[in-house]
Amino acid sequence: MLPAAVLEQVQKEFLNWQDTNSSVIEVSHRGENFIAMAHEAEKDLRELLKIPDNYKVLFLQGGARAQFATIPLNILGKSQSASYIITGHWANCASDEAKKYCSIEYIDVRSDLDEKSAIKPIDKLNISEHSAYVHFCPNETVDGIEINEVPKTNLPIVADLSSTILSRPINISQYGLIYAGAQKNIGPAGMTIVIVREDLLGRANDLLPSVFNYQIQADKDSMYNTPPTFSWYVSGLVFKWLKKNGGLANIYKENRLKAKILYDFIDKSDLYFNNIHKNNRSIMNVTFNLYKPSLIKTFLEEAKRAGLYGLKGHSVVGGLRASIYNAMPLAGVEALLKFMCEFERKF
Ligand SMILES: *Cc1c(COP(=O)(O)O)cnc(C)c1O
Repeated sequence: MLPAAVLEQVQKEFLNWQDTNSSVIEVSHRGENFIAMAHEAEKDLRELLKIPDNYKVLFLQGGARAQFATIPLNILGKSQSASYIITGHWANCASDEAKKYCSIEYIDVRSDLDEKSAIKPIDKLNISEHSAYVHFCPNETVDGIEINEVPKTNLPIVADLSSTILSRPINISQYGLIYAGAQKNIGPAGMTIVIVREDLLGRANDLLPSVFNYQIQADKDSMYNTPPTFSWYVSGLVFKWLKKNGGLANIYKENRLKAKILYDFIDKSDLYFNNIHKNNRSIMNVTFNLYKPSLIKTFLEEAKRAGLYGLKGHSVVGGLRASIYNAMPLAGVEALLKFMCEFERKF
């Protein structure tokens, strides 16, 4: 979802943006209006995330999956290995791509606790000093798993925050690099945000395409090539919406509440269950299943009739999933609860 207020503003000014008599998707990205908007979006993002001055913010393309490949090509330098903390689906995908460029040290932290899926403590990991960086995915979108600690290591931590960025305050200085596709918790698809500490720049592989070279894009204010202008513009409006609504401290409070009422209900239910340990339950992606799996199809059909969409679990894990990103209001979660409750009574 995107915030309704943002979509309404986009609609209102779509044909005539800032009195230019043009749409924002028609103007030049090098024009004065667009440049000013782009700078303001970066300023607002820096304010929301409290990004220190020694980090660059890049607005790139290719999604998180492009970063899976371009991260090693940008920051391996002379090193020939990297460590990947394996937490679930996306950590696996990231390491599969990176292993084309270097040797991978896999640190599998998945385990079980009280018969539920859990993540082992990550504060005392044994990480090879030969690695150029440690890759970490704190919110596993597909699995519905979240890790609330950040690994302790002297190596730069590279984090895929695609499904958790802006859902809560974070301490940027714990990371060497953060990346996130815009389409989950920021704005429309097409843009990838990379926040990178300056000392990790300038060591790119010569074969890396320039559009993906962090140093080149940083030097050109992310306009070495034409950036994803519409996504950048809408994301800028989302940053303003977040600032107006109490910033990340407030959205975190709302996000925790939304997740809590959903998990509390599921845990008490005789039809639904969630098999993730409470220490590692995602507040963005609530995965759940039915004790009668044959009812999943009916659940999805009836949910759709009730105006509740997108509840099918990722094809890799099946089951059901409520992705309750920032823009999902509490009322949306309450509507889902009401439906789930009625469905349970009926079946
Ligand atoms: C969705 C997602 C991806 C894939 O993003 P693309 O932009 O489609 O490449 C990668 N990592 C995480 C954590 C995701 O949630």
